[in-house]
Amino acid sequence: MGKKITICTFIDAFGWEVYKRYGFLDDILPEARRLRTTFGFSSAADPSILTGRYPDEHTHWSCFYYAPENSPFKLMKLLSILPRQIFDRGRVRHWLSKILAKFYGYTGYFQIYSVPFEVLPYFDYLEKRDYFVPGGILATDTIFDRLYSEEIPYHCSNWRLPEKRNLEIAKDTINEGKIEFMYLYLPKLDAVMHEFGNNAPQVEEKIRWLEEQVREVKKLAEEKYDEVAFFAISDHGMANVTESVDLISQIDSLGLEFGKDYVAMYDSTMARFWFMNDSARSRITEKLNQCSKGYIVSDEELKQMRVFFEDRKFGEVIFLMNAGTLIVPSFMGLKSIPGMHGYHPDDKDSYCFIKSDRHIPEDVNSITDIRRALEREISNV
Ligand SMILES: [Zn+2]
Repeated sequence: MGKKITICTFIDAFGWEVYKRYGFLDDILPEARRLRTTFGFSSAADPSILTGRYPDEHTHWSCFYYAPENSPFKLMKLLSILPRQIFDRGRVRHWLSKILAKFYGYTGYFQIYSVPFEVLPYFDYLEKRDYFVPGGILATDTIFDRLYSEEIPYHCSNWRLPEKRNLEIAKDTINEGKIEFMYLYLPKLDAVMHEFGNNAPQVEEKIRWLEEQVREVKKLAEEKYDEVAFFAISDHGMANVTESVDLISQIDSLGLEFGKDYVAMYDSTMARFWFMNDSARSRITEKLNQCSKGYIVSDEELKQMRVFFEDRKFGEVIFLMNAGTLIVPSFMGLKSIPGMHGYHPDDKDSYCFIKSDRHIPEDVNSITDIRRALEREISNV
């Protein structure tokens, strides 16, 4: 039997609509299928790909969840007395996130973004562990856990390294000819589209560059191995931002006290609320229902989207913005940006894809089906 490798190239935020506009390696990866993403951000989508399951099973949804008793950030309150103009700067917060991650021993991706210091003590952070290594996911397992337990040699890019470096390492690893599976992580298209929107010249330029790089990887693998099964996948799409809403001011105008009446997490495309009394609940709910730029997602719909959690740690009320509308400022960013994801999974710009040189089975339609499609190609699994 010949030597076989299965390679999965992950391209962050490469949506189906963007793929239809620009194409991607259509000569060597002729099969393409539109995939539905999961509701939420990458913190929900990436674990869904790796586990082949939905957030209500693997339990990863939003980064920050309500945990006033067990918050590791209680001391962050002290930082809130420091001058805002220094400590709200992106670079300072990035640097502070690194120090905190080190201090707490987090190995996952950790960012405090623009969450105010006085708000942090109400929350805990979900991705404490790196889920790209075995044992990293909170519940259930990932494709890496399975490869590890079945002793199938594989390589997964280190997401902390630059894209170019990961491409070099991927090629070196293929040259050694020892692995049977590779997960090549290419996250930079996401940053380009956040910065320029989904149809800027920079996007096409980046896609053409990615094509060249991925083509080289595939060619090298075909030289080194007798058989290559090649996949390109993405986790979600990207919508152009056309409007912003200052939701924080609208909620603040009710005169309720944060931490005493309610607690809120303002993600960029959704706002999540917890209530300490019924009056706060009804007044905030009423205010949200008056806002035409989004809607409160019902428990029934959360259940349908497989992101309902009985303990409500991700929110008692979840207000989702209409596609293209951004909460500005939010706890994720103080300014508007041209591109964002995290809207409703049924919005056309939310869909992503799987591409391959293999036949993609009919039952592969969601990012939770990717794992199954990959495992089918990995020998001995
Ligand atoms: Zn992104």
